[in-house]
This record gives sequence, C-alpha cells and structure tokens, in this order.
Amino acid sequence: AAPGVRRLSPYQPGKPLDALEREYGVRNAIKLASNENPLGPGPAAVAAARAALEGVGRYPDGAGFGLKRALAARLGVDAMQITLGNGSNDVLELVARAFLGPDTEVVYAAHAFAVYALVTQAAGARAVVVPARDWGHDLDAMRAAVGPRTRLVFIANPNNPTGTWLRAGDLEGFVRAVPENVLVVVDEAYFEYVDEPDYPDTVGWIAKYPNLITTRTFSKIHGLAGLRVGYGVSHPAVADLLNRVRQPFNVNSAAAAAAEAALRDEAHVARSRDMNRAGLRQLTEGTKKLGLPHIPSTANFVCIEVGQAAAVYEGLLREGVIVRPVANYGMPRHLRVTVGLPEENERFLKALDKVLGGSR
Ligand code: PMP
Repeated sequence: AAPGVRRLSPYQPGKPLDALEREYGVRNAIKLASNENPLGPGPAAVAAARAALEGVGRYPDGAGFGLKRALAARLGVDAMQITLGNGSNDVLELVARAFLGPDTEVVYAAHAFAVYALVTQAAGARAVVVPARDWGHDLDAMRAAVGPRTRLVFIANPNNPTGTWLRAGDLEGFVRAVPENVLVVVDEAYFEYVDEPDYPDTVGWIAKYPNLITTRTFSKIHGLAGLRVGYGVSHPAVADLLNRVRQPFNVNSAAAAAAEAALRDEAHVARSRDMNRAGLRQLTEGTKKLGLPHIPSTANFVCIEVGQAAAVYEGLLREGVIVRPVANYGMPRHLRVTVGLPEENERFLKALDKVLGGSR
C-alpha cells in the first residue's frame, strides 16, 4: 500500500441499532449517534426517490444537470461552480485528490471532523494539526501554521464533533489573510441548523475569494444520509478540476431526484430546524440539571462532559441508548449526542441520570 494509506485508521461510524439488539439483547433501542435528522426526509423527497427507481435501467445524468441547476438557482451561483458528491465526504476526497500530493501540507484543527485526516493521509500529504482554543478552531494559530508547502486548509463551521462555530468577521479575516494559492475548504454540513446572527454564508464570498470552496450536504437537515448526496461550491476553475477527478456517475439517480425535491421542500427544513432548536435546549438544560457541562453547540448535536466517557457510553448502551464516544477525537471525557425526537431526548436524559447515579 502507499505509505499514507498504511498509516490510516478507518472512519468509525456510530454503532448500528441492530448491533445493540444482537450484542446486548436490548429491544427498542434508540440511536442518537450519527447527527441524522430524527424526522428523516420529507415525503416529497421519498416520493421522488421512489419515482426515480422506475428509470434505474439507465445510467444517471452524469453531469447532474437538474440538481446542479436547482442548487445554482437557490444559491445564486452558476451551475459551473458546483461539484456534486456521493455525500459531502466525496467532495472532500475530490479536493484532496485534485490538489494534494506527497510534498504538500494540509492545515486543520485538533478535534476537527475525522475525514480531513483520512483524505490528507490517503493523498500522501502531511497534516499540520493546530491545537484548538475553547474546543473550537484557533484561526490565528491556523493562519500561523500556513507555510510554503500548504495547499489546503480544512475548516468545519460548525465543527463536528465539538459543535463550535466561527463568526463571519473572524472567518473572513482568515480567508483574506491566507495566500491565494492555498485553498480554504469551509465545510458547512450543518449550515441550515445554525441559529446565530454572525454566522457566515460563505457561498456569497466565493466571487471575492477564488481560493474558497464551500461544501454542504443533503445528509443532515434534509434527512437523506442514506442516499449520499453532497456538493461543493467554488470558483468555476476549481470546480472544473474537481469534476475531472470525479467518478462520472458518483451521484445515483434516486439520490439526485430526492435531493432536488428536498431542496424545494422548505417546510420540511423549517420544521426540522424548529425541532432541533427545541431539542438542543432540552438536552443542554437537562444535562445542566444533572450537573454536567457541555460545549456550546449550534448544530444538531452537542458534546457533554460526562467524566469517564467510555464507561458512561457502555452504561447507556445497556439502557438502549446509542450515543457517540469521541475519544478518537482526543476527547475522552465527552460524549456526543445527536438531537433526537423530544421523547428520545427525554429517554437519553433519564438513561444518563440512571447510569451516572451509581457514581454520584
Ligand atoms: N462534514 C462534517 C463536519 C460532518 O459532520 C459530516 C457528517 N458526519 C460530513 C461532512 C459528511 O457528511 P456526508 O458525507 O453525509 O455529506
């Protein structure tokens, strides 16, 4: 194997529900572990995916014309600026494949989304991991870490797993300060959830900063994680390069049809956002009552400091609640909990109280 690949540790997904039933004999388990929308997709998206199945004898539209046109209209950009991906992870990988090589460096923050490390190493590039400040990206330190070999900077806004976010002024100051030959990827997988006045919509900045790439996804608020659709928005010249390394049919026809319908279903997005806002409050207030601190989050998940997280995680599994340990992110005292339905959040809080009961 290539040297970077040999050193890779694979991405660790959340424990699936059926595994919990098999391993622990727990029935009616709930999963708050993968930052999915607890409402799932809206009915229009599901109907569009079903209808698309009629045509699966043929290859999908390889250029993703319809979905790109719909996204371009929504975002106020040209369709030539969009790169479709099999999830936004695919777009992150395309960026690495198009721009990285053995003598290049990539800057990202400690506790940042795991896929940045994966795609950097797989491309044989060197990772420069910058220590966090208050669990979030330290943009001054990241700016200082950019050197002559730096080709890429990955920034998640908000970040997974910490839930921390960057304000428009700070992020734009960073993008302005970075040399033009360094690409800045701003990963906005949780964009639609954010409820903060100074939160930037970086798609609007691309005309000013041609080295900026914004990535977003249909996996989160649109509830289409299982179909795998994401996209990047960039300067057309960058999109052209990404499209050269893209597999010709990387977004399947059911996924593209569902994504187009989901984009039109603004009511489902609004419903999901409202439910998340209330659920995030339910989780943070509930854990505060248990005496547990959390990292302030503006996404659809929150990291709660539970102490010996591995033991608490195990205890929760026995109660039929799957959350996400984040020790692999250098956070052995936290658990990441995805906002669920109100009754699921309640069940998590009750289970957590019970599991911690013994140790308090
Ligand atoms: N970026 C971030 C910050 C994420 O948390 C995720 C999902 N875990 C992704 C990208 C990738 O999501 P997808 O490939 O489903 O679009």
